[in-house]
Amino acid sequence: MKKRLLFLGPPGAGKGTQAARLCGQHGMKHLSTGDLLRSEVAAGSDLGKEAEAVMNRGELVSDALVLAIVKGQLGNLGEGGWLLDGFPRNVAQAEALAPLLADIGQPLEAVVLLALDDAVLMERMLARGRDDDNEDVIRHRLEVYREKTAPLIEYYSQQGLLISVEAQGSVEAITTRIEQALTESC
Ligand code: AMP
Repeated sequence: MKKRLLFLGPPGAGKGTQAARLCGQHGMKHLSTGDLLRSEVAAGSDLGKEAEAVMNRGELVSDALVLAIVKGQLGNLGEGGWLLDGFPRNVAQAEALAPLLADIGQPLEAVVLLALDDAVLMERMLARGRDDDNEDVIRHRLEVYREKTAPLIEYYSQQGLLISVEAQGSVEAITTRIEQALTESC
C-alpha cells in the first residue's frame, strides 16, 4: 500500500477522521496543519495569536506561517510513511512542498481526493460544532476551497498522483475504499 500520502478535499469531507483511521491502522504519521494550528491557538503562542482570527473567519493563514510549521515537522517523519492532511491548501504551498520532500528523499506517492457534494458537507460541518463551523464561515471556507485548493486536483492529476474516492457512506466503508485505492493503483 502506498504510504506517503496527501489528502485533498473540501472541508467536512472527513479528511481528519479518515486520516486518523488510516494512520492508526497502517502506522503512518498523521500531520494535520489544522490540528497543529489549533494547538498553537490553544497554547496562546505568538504563532497561534496570529492564526486565530484568520482561522475563525474561514480564511487561509499565510503560506509562510504554515510552511514554517510544516518544515518543523518534516525532520521527524521517520520511515513508516506519512499522511499530510490539510496541506498544501494552494498551488504555492504545493510548489514549496515538492523540494522539501525531495530533500528528505521521500517523494509523494499518491494524492487521495475525498469527493462529496456541498449539501452533505454543510450538514456534516454544522454537526461538528467547531469554533470555525457556523454557517457563514462554512460557506466562506467552501468558497476558499474552490478558489484556492481545488486547483490542486488538476495540479496533482497532471502529475499522475491523483486518486479520487467517493466520501459517502459509513466511516468504515470509506476507509476500506481508500485502502483498496491505495493498494490497487500500484
Ligand atoms: P482544517 O482543520 O484543515 O480544516 O484547518 C482549519 C483552518 O486552519 C483552516 O480554515 C485555515 O484557516 C487553517 N489552515 C489549515 N491548514 C492550512 C494551510 N495548509 N494553509 C493555510 N491555512 C491553513
